[in-house]
Amino acid sequence: MATQDITEILANIVERAKSLDPVNSRKWFDELVLVQFDGGLLEIGCPDESSAQFLHDNCLAVFTQSVQNITGHLVSVKFGVSQQRQFSRTSADRPRWSLKLHPDYTFESFVVGPCNRLAHASCVAVSHSPGDTYNPLFLYGNVGLGKTHLLHAVCHGIRKKPFNTSIRFLSCEEFVNGFIRAIEQGKLADFQSRFRTVDILIIDDVQFLQEREQSQEEFFHTFNALYNNRKQIVLTADCAPGELPSLEERLISRFKWGLVARLDAPGYETRTAIVQKKAHLRGLSISEEIAGYIARKVKSNIRELEGALTIIYATAKASDSQITLELAQQALGDQDVVSERHISITEIIDAVTEYFDVRLADLQSKKRSQSITLPRQICMYLARNLTKHSLEEIGGHFGGRDHSTVLHAYGKIQQLHKTDPSTRAQLNELTETIKQA
Ligand code: ADP
Ligand code: MG
Repeated sequence: MATQDITEILANIVERAKSLDPVNSRKWFDELVLVQFDGGLLEIGCPDESSAQFLHDNCLAVFTQSVQNITGHLVSVKFGVSQQRQFSRTSADRPRWSLKLHPDYTFESFVVGPCNRLAHASCVAVSHSPGDTYNPLFLYGNVGLGKTHLLHAVCHGIRKKPFNTSIRFLSCEEFVNGFIRAIEQGKLADFQSRFRTVDILIIDDVQFLQEREQSQEEFFHTFNALYNNRKQIVLTADCAPGELPSLEERLISRFKWGLVARLDAPGYETRTAIVQKKAHLRGLSISEEIAGYIARKVKSNIRELEGALTIIYATAKASDSQITLELAQQALGDQDVVSERHISITEIIDAVTEYFDVRLADLQSKKRSQSITLPRQICMYLARNLTKHSLEEIGGHFGGRDHSTVLHAYGKIQQLHKTDPSTRAQLNELTETIKQA
C-alpha cells in the first residue's frame, strides 16, 4: 500500500476513534504513527510508553472498531512505542524502568493557583533534585484535587533527567497487597529489597495503611532504610498526618519530618484555567466565557469540572454543533434538573440489590466473595456519585466501613468504568434506574 494511503488510513482511524470516544481522545493522537499494517494486525506507534499504555487501557476497543469500520476487515490493534521516535531519543531520556504513568499528568498540564502552589513547587523541587530538598514530601487534600496528578508529574520530570534514578511509584493498596502476597509466598526478603533499594519511593493514598498494623510496621522499616540513605520519599493522603487516627505515632511523626503541603479546593480563576487546560489537552478550543461558565457552575472537585466539560463536548458532538454558551448551558442545565432530585442511599441499595439479586445483610456483612464485593463496591461508587453524603456516612450504611474503604471501592469501580465496557453498561443502567425511580 502506498505511504500516502497508509497515512490517510491512520488519520481516518484516529478521527473516527476521537468521535466515538471523545472523553478519552487527546490532542497528541495526531502524533501517532503507523508501524505495521499486515496480516490482520495494525500496529500503532506512540510517542512513549505511557501514551501506549493509556491507549491500550482506554482506547483499544474504539480503535479496533474504527479500523474495522474503515477497512471492512477484522483487524486487531496493538499499541507500541514508535521505533522511529525511539531512535531519535538520546540515551539519556530513554526510560530505564517500567512505570505506569498517565501521559496527561505532567507539570505542564497542571494549573498552579493559590490552592496548590506549595504542593506544586515542592514536587518540582523534588523532581529536580530528589533526596536533597524536602524529604519526605507529604501531600494531602480532599479527593480530586490533584495529588495523584502531581505524583505522576514528579515521575515524568525525573524521567526526563539524564541521571540514572530508580523509582518505585505505587498506590498504598498495592504496597499492602504486595506485602501480604510476599508473606504468603515466603518472599519477604525479595519484597523488602525491591522497596529498600530504590532512589525514590512514591506511595499514593497512605491513609490505606490505617488499621493494617503489619503493613505499617513493614512500611516503617522501609521508610527508615530509605531515609537513612538519603533516598527520596513522597507520600499522599486524604488528610494531614496528624489526622490519620489509627496510624502509629512513630509513622505520623516521620511523615512530618520533611515538608507537609496541603492542596485546597481551587478558586474560580484556577478552575477556569483548569477547564481551558483540559480542553486544550483534548484538542478543543474553548472560549473564556464558556470556561468561566463551567467554573462557576461546578465548584466541587476537579474531576467534576472535567466531567462537565465532557458532557458539553459530548453534547456538541452528538448534535454536530459548535460549543457555544447556549449549548453549554443546555448541556449542564439538563444535568442540574436531574441532580435536583434528592437521591437517598437506600434507593441506591434497593436498585443494586435487586439488580444483582443479593441481600442488604450480605452487603453489610464482612463477606468478601466477588458476588458480594462487587455489588457492595458499586453501591458505594453510586452513592458517592449520586448523593452528597460523606465517605464516612456512606461507609456507615455498609456495616460501618471506614472512609478509606469507600474511597478504595470508588477508585476500583471508577477504574472498571473506564476499562470494562460491561461494568460501564451496568453502571449506566443502574444510574438510569435510580434517577428515574
Ligand atoms: P487526587 O489524587 O487528589 O484525588 P487527582 O490527581 O486524581 O486527584 O486529580 C483528579 C483530576 O483533576 C485529574 O484529572 C487531574 O488531572 C485533575 N486536576 C487536579 N488538579 C489539577 C490542576 N491543578 N490542574 C490540572 N488538572 C488538575
Ligand atoms: Mg489520587
